[in-house]
Amino acid sequence: MSLHLDDPVTALPGVGPKLAGRLAEGLNIHTVRDLIEHYPRRYHDAGEVLDLSEVDEGDPATLIGEVLDWSTRRVPPKGKRRRALDVTTGRVRQASGAVFTVTFFNQWWRSSRLPAGTVAAFSGEVGSFKGALQLKSPDVQPLGRVAGGLDPDAAAERLAHQRLLAVYPAIDGVPSFKLNELVEVALEQLPPFKEWLPQALRDEHGLMDLDPAVRGIHQPPDPGVAQAARDRLVFDELFALQLGLQRRRARLEAETVGLDNEPVEVGRAATFVERLPFEPTGAQTRAMAGIGDDLGSPSPMHRLLQGDVGSGKTLVAVWAMLCAVDNGRQAALMVPTEVLAEQHHRTLTELLAPLGVNVLDGVRVELLTSSTTRTARRRILGELLEGRVDLIVGTHALLEEGVRFADLGVVVIDEQHRFGVSQRVRLTDKTADTGMDRSATPDVLVMTATPIPRSLALTLYGDLDVTVLDELPPGREPINTQLITRQQADRREKLYRFLRAQAQAGHRAYVVCPFVEESETLPGTAAVDEHQRLASTVFPDLDVALVHGRLTPSEKEEAMRAFRAGDSQVLVSTTVIEVGVDVPEATVMVIEDAERFGISQLHQLRGRVGRGGGRSFCVLFAGWSAQITDDGLQRLEAVARTTDGFELAEADLAIRGEGQLFGQAQSGAADLKLAKLNQDVEVVERTRDLARSVVADDPDLKAPEHVDLRTEVIRRYGDVDAFAALRTG
Ligand code: ADP
Ligand code: MG
Repeated sequence: MSLHLDDPVTALPGVGPKLAGRLAEGLNIHTVRDLIEHYPRRYHDAGEVLDLSEVDEGDPATLIGEVLDWSTRRVPPKGKRRRALDVTTGRVRQASGAVFTVTFFNQWWRSSRLPAGTVAAFSGEVGSFKGALQLKSPDVQPLGRVAGGLDPDAAAERLAHQRLLAVYPAIDGVPSFKLNELVEVALEQLPPFKEWLPQALRDEHGLMDLDPAVRGIHQPPDPGVAQAARDRLVFDELFALQLGLQRRRARLEAETVGLDNEPVEVGRAATFVERLPFEPTGAQTRAMAGIGDDLGSPSPMHRLLQGDVGSGKTLVAVWAMLCAVDNGRQAALMVPTEVLAEQHHRTLTELLAPLGVNVLDGVRVELLTSSTTRTARRRILGELLEGRVDLIVGTHALLEEGVRFADLGVVVIDEQHRFGVSQRVRLTDKTADTGMDRSATPDVLVMTATPIPRSLALTLYGDLDVTVLDELPPGREPINTQLITRQQADRREKLYRFLRAQAQAGHRAYVVCPFVEESETLPGTAAVDEHQRLASTVFPDLDVALVHGRLTPSEKEEAMRAFRAGDSQVLVSTTVIEVGVDVPEATVMVIEDAERFGISQLHQLRGRVGRGGGRSFCVLFAGWSAQITDDGLQRLEAVARTTDGFELAEADLAIRGEGQLFGQAQSGAADLKLAKLNQDVEVVERTRDLARSVVADDPDLKAPEHVDLRTEVIRRYGDVDAFAALRTG
């Protein structure tokens, strides 16, 4: 009983350097704890393990034995069956010496997966064939090889008293069954797992105790226990993560004082809404009310504004910024690209026109990017410091040395990259520094360009409040989306005719390509070549513009201007137009080599059309330069199937899984071993609310009943500061 969770796996009997090496390299298992946290992928239901002498035809049974040999014969077509059938039969010998057969249909590969000498459990219904007992298409669980020292008798014995056999993610040289053995030994030698959740909390949430949960997930006597054990351990992972996030938030709040930017009754924000050419949607109104509460509260706002493409986030953001102005302060809107900054600056100027822009008594709005001239920059910086500029739109140029505000009240960050958590934290921290009044922190509103599933938002942005714009402005018609593969080459010509007709009717079209210039390593259309081809051969009668990241800012701006004004009817581009570009007359979005793009990118790109009312179209050309992978096809089909960004975000999560979405240690969520964010949404929400209420009463988890919580959070994520470091990458 001396084994400890932090011991290296070599502390387990039978684990030498070779096996330890394999475990470390292939499964990232170094310590006993890693082994215990290497959870089963599923369970093999062994049923009752029986000996041949005990079974009758028609019984469900699990029979264990050693594979002796295989044979395959082909049965010619007969009756309704129009094709020949391959029948693969294996002979299997039980420990008692009795032999039975297993039969598979059109699964010749079984013989190579289960070569002679393999010991496996076969579960299925017992039948007979030519007088011998037979299992037809049984469920198979390999247990090991006789040559590898496996004793079929002992294996049968093991299974006999444990119907559900854990099946682990395994690798070459460490099969699942080896892991069963190691876990069994570890669980025998480890002392009871120490409970960290208070009894009352376990009762309230119907949670199993920790010790039986850890044992039960590996060796469940029945599916009910396996499920209860999983529920408990998923809760632990998510609750610990949320406690970490909420503690960090509490710490930030305790250290900072907010600014009162409460909406005023008669002011610019109110006038702005009154004079809009349209009514705000219900969702926009709700969002403004929620944000208004935050703006007026004494602690700084940390809010995430989520909404599908075109749901009208900009309006909400502008309103929040005007609240700062109404309170005599300034506001900044930070965006990731120059094209977007210019776009937002123009939008702001238009939206604020009724209030007067850059005129006496009007709102002072400026733009600051890295291509702002030196003279203009000097003037803007001076006026910012004097408090004469009310609103500023800019790129990361806003974060440079020398940018100082007289009194920065509200910061809006429009994110391009969905998961730029570390970036956001850096930006907000920097923002706090740029304020003259260092004792108070501005209110921060983060906008995501693409919806993310709620569970993911709560995990990635667990320290933010979330507002969702779940309603599109009226009159939007769904964008007709079509997938065109190489096999349908004639549809390309048709599309070009359609595109010309749209252009002649005063509409415009985007053609997006994955590359600027031809890539030496990757197949795919280059924007430069496509522009050339469309301009000279396909649409000699139209004006085709080109925009990509290697043009100078003024070249880019000129191309965008021409397209916006209708001087150019077709715009060939790279994904620089992915986010936020808003040309209401654009009705067609063509994406070349669409399989190269991710779901959210495709959705963003498609969101560039359908903004002006009227029918819009999105055409995804896929498989023209390269084969489409299965995942690729799934992505494209999802995009073609729905225009609902939240549904697509869920599809993305399901196709890629959280592991890939998170990349590096961008957030503690990368540590989730058992929880699945698309399945466990309810637990994510519950643990977040719970963590919030615990931390609200006891930010440092110092109360006696919270000491164990604190120890666990620190064990998993280090102390608060280490947790912060993890998040800022
Ligand atoms: P996104 O959420 O993608 O940033 P925008 O804020 O760019 O969306 O808004 C998309 C378009 O919808 C803009 O042209 C905007 O003027 C318009 N819009 C926003 N809110 C409304 C509304 N309530 N009614 C009608 N049109 C609206
Ligand atoms: Mg926008």
